[in-house]
Amino acid sequence: MSKHANTGSDWVRPLVQRLRPYEPGEQSKEKGLVKLNTNENPYPPSDRVLKAMKAAVDDRLRLYPDPCCHSLKEALAGFHGVQSEQIIVGNGSDELLALATRAFVEPQSSRQGHVQKNRSVIQYFVPSYSLYPVLSEIHGAIRNEVPLTKDFAIPSARKLKSESRWNNGAALTYVTTPNAPTGRGYTSRELRSLCRGQQGVVILDEAYADFAEENAMSLASDFKNVLVSRTFSKSYALCFQRIGYFVGHPSLVRALDCVRDSYNVNGLGQVAALETLKSLSYYRKNITRIIKTRDTFALRLRSLGFDVLPSQANFLFVKPPGSVDAKTWFEGLRERKVLVRWFADSPHSDRLRITIGTRDNMRQCMNALQTLCSQFLCS
Ligand code: PMP
Repeated sequence: MSKHANTGSDWVRPLVQRLRPYEPGEQSKEKGLVKLNTNENPYPPSDRVLKAMKAAVDDRLRLYPDPCCHSLKEALAGFHGVQSEQIIVGNGSDELLALATRAFVEPQSSRQGHVQKNRSVIQYFVPSYSLYPVLSEIHGAIRNEVPLTKDFAIPSARKLKSESRWNNGAALTYVTTPNAPTGRGYTSRELRSLCRGQQGVVILDEAYADFAEENAMSLASDFKNVLVSRTFSKSYALCFQRIGYFVGHPSLVRALDCVRDSYNVNGLGQVAALETLKSLSYYRKNITRIIKTRDTFALRLRSLGFDVLPSQANFLFVKPPGSVDAKTWFEGLRERKVLVRWFADSPHSDRLRITIGTRDNMRQCMNALQTLCSQFLCS
């Protein structure tokens, strides 16, 4: 043993010592909680999916799963009308978003003199998915955070150019569409013009696209530098199994393939995702239900005086009425067994993000909000 007093942190790289981990929403085991904090689907996977997964729990658990997700990629290729070489599957789309930093971004510390600074730049709008800054920091990239307009729109091309905040040469650009946590949808027209100007890779993170009026999947085939990210977690009720995928040019997909673990996607997840694609009408019905519930709930919230941003996703980003802060509303809901998301360290900590659950879930949420309204607004 060395005489030197090592506090433990001496073994940790300085970059890692400075990191703050991504904070996921609470996964509480508390009974009777109405869980509206992590944008999960309130409806179960289809019977077909559950049956296939149960049937797959047998002797094959001893074996490694298909390392390349062949059957799933073929089914996804058919679903999107692309080639299977255009698809990579990941352990949730989060894994792929992280792999993209490895494949496309040069860490600042390893950049040689002649390599341009832009090769280390990761760019994204703020607010958007709070994982991007974490991934950028882990990778030792240069972050370029570009503010959205006051009403959370993408600034016009002219504005982006004139304010020179936007970097056309960034190695990697993430765009969440529809955006989270705002729920705002972007048109494929504006996304197309944004992608057209980029020299580096653009990832269109469409985790919530199935709840939106349009999506930008066609851009994955129209542009060599665009990857579209999708997940089975939200519209396909499969968070537990961690399945996400990217669609894009085969050369980008091959690069990502080189930096992933060999068995990155678990076997039961592959079975479940494949069966999901065979029960699409069941999921479409649930998506329609969620959209209807969202729109009715938004109207009710507005009638209570909440500022509700228009949403194209399975959640609403809302500002409570009156002078009581959002944290107190969050805690008041928690006491009434309704769990929503409040982002403490964000410039938008005056808002709550409420996931759309079943009609019954939302009735309970509304009852709790009405009680809080009479408590907070009448005192
Ligand atoms: N992108 C966005 C915008 C998200 O909100 C989420 C869920 N937190 C993900 C990607 C990741 O989804 P998953 O890893 O479950 O596929």
